[in-house]
Amino acid sequence: PKKLATRIALVTGAASGIGKAIAKRLAAEGAAVVIADLDLAKAQAAAAEIGNTDQAIGVAANVTDAAAIDQAVQQTLLHFGGLDLVVNNAGLSLSKSLLDTTEQDWDLQHDVMAKGSFLVSKAAAKVLIEQGLGGDIVYISSKNSVFAGPNNIAYSATKADQAHQVRLLAAELGEHGVRVNGINPDGVVRGSGIFASGWGANRAKTYGIEEQDLGAFYAQRTILKREVVPENVANAVYAICTDDFSHTTGLHVPVDAGVAAA
Ligand code: NAD
Repeated sequence: PKKLATRIALVTGAASGIGKAIAKRLAAEGAAVVIADLDLAKAQAAAAEIGNTDQAIGVAANVTDAAAIDQAVQQTLLHFGGLDLVVNNAGLSLSKSLLDTTEQDWDLQHDVMAKGSFLVSKAAAKVLIEQGLGGDIVYISSKNSVFAGPNNIAYSATKADQAHQVRLLAAELGEHGVRVNGINPDGVVRGSGIFASGWGANRAKTYGIEEQDLGAFYAQRTILKREVVPENVANAVYAICTDDFSHTTGLHVPVDAGVAAA
């Protein structure tokens, strides 16, 4: 496999939060990065934070739209001349109870995360197989893909869908040297844009606390008593994509300061 410093990465939902931190970390290791997000101006602004267009570009791509994804992949090939690493990060969490979850809530979260990552992985895998150089696909799933909690049915179900995509694609793409792994973050409040979707207010209500206390609340329930920030997730993505993990595929790495182990 190619060294990370010579790789070309596409990160979805990378104009904000965890995705932006991932794009920055991969770029800091020398990778060329394509930031794909809903809004072109925001994607380009995030790319400009990284450097010039030899290092990062921003593209508009709604991951629920197969044609837009194909276009983002084509832009990647045209601009950087290849594709080696894809991160399925785009997502949103509405955090509602079963009775509050509408059909639209269910469809939106499944469209963006379950269907969106399927479409992105499909478009990327086609290129990775054709290139014949192997590659990496990483899913930013969640602790919620495995562990149940209240008021999160649609989000958690779609994260479980993503987790199974990791295992299925690891099995299917292994013969092409493509590794597929997942990261299971939990409790990333600071530096994440998820409050905008109403997630923060709904989670705070679930726990009976104030929204601004969520970060500290999550930290105190971890084994390590540490708050998880986007950079912690980005570091794990970087690590799993290095040659040090060349014999690891189909794995989910928790980045949750120990919540899932408690
Ligand atoms: P965020 O809101 O800061 O970032 C999500 C990004 O995805 C935004 O830039 C948004 O514009 C983009 N996006 C949304 N729908 C899209 C679409 N249809 N097409 C393209 N882009 C789209 O939130 P975040 O916390 O950084 O979340 C990133 C990922 O991490 C999500 O998949 C989320 O489920 C996952 N995650 C977050 C946490 C956490 O605690 N924050 C925990 C576990 C998993």
